[in-house]
Amino acid sequence: MTVLTGEYETIRRETRKFAEKEVAPVAHDLYNEGAEIPMPIIRKMADLGYFAMAIPEQYGGLGMDTLTITLVTEELSRVWLSVGSVMTRMLIAGGLLLNGGTDAQKERWLPGIAAGDILPAAAFTEPNAGSDTAGMQLRAVKQANGSYLLNGAKTWITFANRAHIMTVLARTNPDVSKRHKGLSMFVVEKTPGNEFVPPQLTGAPIPTIGYYGMKSFSLNFEDFEVPAENLIGGVEGRGFYQLMGVYETARIQTAARAVGVAQAAFDAALQYAQEREQFGKPIAEFQVIQHKLAHMATDIEAARQLTYFAAQKKDAGQRSDLEAGMAKLFAADMVEKVTSDALQIFGGYGYAMEYPAHRFWRDGRIFKIFEGTSEIQAEVIARRLIPERK
Ligand SMILES: Cc1cc2nc3c(=O)[nH]c(=O)nc-3n(C[C@H](O)[C@H](O)[C@H](O)COP(=O)(O)OP(=O)(O)OC[C@H]3O[C@@H](n4cnc5c(N)ncnc54)[C@H](O)[C@@H]3O)c2cc1C
Repeated sequence: MTVLTGEYETIRRETRKFAEKEVAPVAHDLYNEGAEIPMPIIRKMADLGYFAMAIPEQYGGLGMDTLTITLVTEELSRVWLSVGSVMTRMLIAGGLLLNGGTDAQKERWLPGIAAGDILPAAAFTEPNAGSDTAGMQLRAVKQANGSYLLNGAKTWITFANRAHIMTVLARTNPDVSKRHKGLSMFVVEKTPGNEFVPPQLTGAPIPTIGYYGMKSFSLNFEDFEVPAENLIGGVEGRGFYQLMGVYETARIQTAARAVGVAQAAFDAALQYAQEREQFGKPIAEFQVIQHKLAHMATDIEAARQLTYFAAQKKDAGQRSDLEAGMAKLFAADMVEKVTSDALQIFGGYGYAMEYPAHRFWRDGRIFKIFEGTSEIQAEVIARRLIPERK
């Protein structure tokens, strides 16, 4: 079991203070309205350095470790999943540039991402290629002047409206049999807003059953010109590998988001169980409710510890893709069950918009789908366990 030292506890406490003061009072009403996170909250997060955590000091960041990012994520997601999820985009764009970008690209974008002046979105999924990343079809064709023209569709691109840049995975080699070897990663620049860059880049929000704080968009690129210097790393064919390189951190952070949502559901259910009386006593006095709470707390702690372990292994410089995948897989199952049990403890009120249980349950369901579905996560884990399957 991970026992956190004073420094980590301080960061957790400070993040909780911010989340409780600035986000919690508005989260539930905004959720019920289907509203996006207010921009002033995002600005405050930037000012507190949440977007700078994974970026080295050399580029204006704070150079913090993965465990710290995990703790901050957990606390932010505990009040509103979407708030904990804004950071995911900075981790992905920052990681892609840090690991694979040229020096000029790092200088150009990392300080702005760290400061929150450049908000990124991650544009990988396509209508016909989700789990099958190597099957991406959006084309990037090199022009005589060295720039690229992008043509094709992306879907589920969260935060695309508010982003200043999008990291876009595109096919530079027209031979689809080249699969992942024909993919490259570009930084696409745009002005924030719901209009995108018509007619070269158009988009529409996808109505969803939860996770409202950030909208996800279907996008269409039509002869959208991207300068040559926006090809990450400056060499074609590296996009798939660059993306795989950031998945480890992204999956650990996603597991932490699930732990945060589950903890919120548990806290609400625990409080409600002690207040709600039936048959002349609080329902918390019924053993079946007590056992439900005991299982919920145990499952949350197990997911939390697996997540912290994956983060600490990464921070120790050890390969941690197996543990990151396990943490994400386990936490996604856990949060679905815990949020459902929490809703059950609320009885009929769990189904009412007025009470918080429904939003944890709706948000909790996304974890088995994004950042790699649970089926794909199990595939990745199995491949590591059974080497001949590679
Ligand atoms: C709210 C939300 C936000 C998102 N945000 C982003 C974002 O910001 N950027 C982005 O790029 N994408 C984003 N996504 C997309 C997300 O990553 C994909 O939905 C996910 O990768 C699955 O792809 P898919 O939807 O095409 O499903 P599919 O790949 O079509 O899968 C359908 C089902 O088949 C299963 N399956 C597929 N292949 C296999 C296999 N080989 N073995 C076993 N089972 C398999 C899947 O697990 C799943 O159950 C988001 C999605 C949602 C819902």
